[in-house]
Amino acid sequence: MSLDISQTEVAIRENRLKSIIYYNGAASQLSKAPTADAFSCKERSYSQCSDCAQMCASTITFFVRGAAVVVHSPMGCFSNTPLNDTQFANSSIERKQAPDKVHVICSNISEKDTVYGGVKKLKEAIKEAYNRFNPTAIFVQSSCAAGVVGDDLEGTTSEMQEELQVPVIPVYCEGFKSKIWSSGFDAAYHGILKKLVKPAETKQKDLVNIFNFLGSDTFTPLLGLLGLRPNYLVPLADVDTISRMSEAACSGHICETLGTYVTEVLEEKFDVPKIKAPAPFGISWTDNWLREVATYTDKTDIVEDVIASEHARIHDELEELRAYFKGKKVYIFAGDSYAHNVGCIVKDLGLELVGMTTLHHDMHNDACDVGKDSLAEMIKVTGDIDNFSVCNKQPYQVIKLLQKLQPDVMIVRHMNMTILGGKLGIPSLLEGETNVSAGYEGVLTTGRRLKSLMQTKGVFNTLKEYNEFPYSKWWQEEENPFYFEQDRKGAKS
Ligand code: SF4
Repeated sequence: MSLDISQTEVAIRENRLKSIIYYNGAASQLSKAPTADAFSCKERSYSQCSDCAQMCASTITFFVRGAAVVVHSPMGCFSNTPLNDTQFANSSIERKQAPDKVHVICSNISEKDTVYGGVKKLKEAIKEAYNRFNPTAIFVQSSCAAGVVGDDLEGTTSEMQEELQVPVIPVYCEGFKSKIWSSGFDAAYHGILKKLVKPAETKQKDLVNIFNFLGSDTFTPLLGLLGLRPNYLVPLADVDTISRMSEAACSGHICETLGTYVTEVLEEKFDVPKIKAPAPFGISWTDNWLREVATYTDKTDIVEDVIASEHARIHDELEELRAYFKGKKVYIFAGDSYAHNVGCIVKDLGLELVGMTTLHHDMHNDACDVGKDSLAEMIKVTGDIDNFSVCNKQPYQVIKLLQKLQPDVMIVRHMNMTILGGKLGIPSLLEGETNVSAGYEGVLTTGRRLKSLMQTKGVFNTLKEYNEFPYSKWWQEEENPFYFEQDRKGAKS
């Protein structure tokens, strides 16, 4: 797929990847469908909640070392993002880096600005960010209000870059544009690729780009098995490191949803090959990922020995964990591709995967290479999943799915979903930090965490006993979680 970073903005996922936020059926049916036309339901007839692309953009831009971010929005949007100094500091320490702070300013668009335009305020905010933080780059994030009023972000950021002599990077992440909040990742990467990344002057053959979130340093030991180093991007990297990401031998990521746009552009425009295998989660995906890395780094002569040695290393503890989890049922609720990663891990641990919900689904990805479609690759590992759904949170539906399937444990990627599990008496593991589950060690780590969580079942039973959901008697007795979509084509009833 040809991607054009000369464009002002990257197309939203609904248009670029035909992404959907509704599906109910078998995983295999979704995986094989060439388009979503047979079962697509982009518009829910009832929606309880959603999220904003700006938040996803913020997870990329807020933690760039030495940079500042201007959020061009009303204060309400600014309060949407819970990203803070503590996360920056804790994650820095985990990576053995000096703690830093989030450098963010809101332009505070008011009602009057939505009538007369907010460019004046935006310029003031950019100058304030420059004077206050002395940044090496300034990201400018848009918002619904800025987008609707039509403030000229492109012209303003170019003008301010000229004046301040640091890169000023527009990020078009207006929440109203896309129902797929992951579009915000692409918006942030697009700005970075367009205005920060430079062609490589030299190549570093032992350096592997890893696109990830904040998180611990688990890729150093994994890549170290092959004598290689991770180049963690974008959070916690500084502007100079980001601008030289084109020097790496190849690029990988912790999740297809997060990483395929940027890795695809790096391959197409900057000659950095992408790793053509799903992210290294679960044993067989990690095997394949290491083999792929080895082909770009001249390590094919040692990679099979490394894999065999790692299998032997984890064997005994893995067997113990499998014995513990035998007959236990798990449900996974996470962002699109990351849920597939976790599916591979729980299969390795011997849990019975009774269902999975992903928060959206990309019918294509930016790469479209064999081995890059994580749903199809997961099914090869887990087998088909009958109870597979796509649902952008919607607690009113989720509680029904869980009540029907009665898993022993749930794994979720977003914090508020653990609370939901707790209210249903289901121990729920927050997969908030993704790096910790990567590689062979990540399988064991997940197993240890799940085992310890499941031993607290009594606490969850008590929570359930005292919980009352705010739903009407009618809804609580309705059997079909997808009632509000039952007239839609292809929906199960
Ligand atoms: S940008 Fe739009 S969707 Fe996002 S928080 Fe602001 S108003 Fe809400």
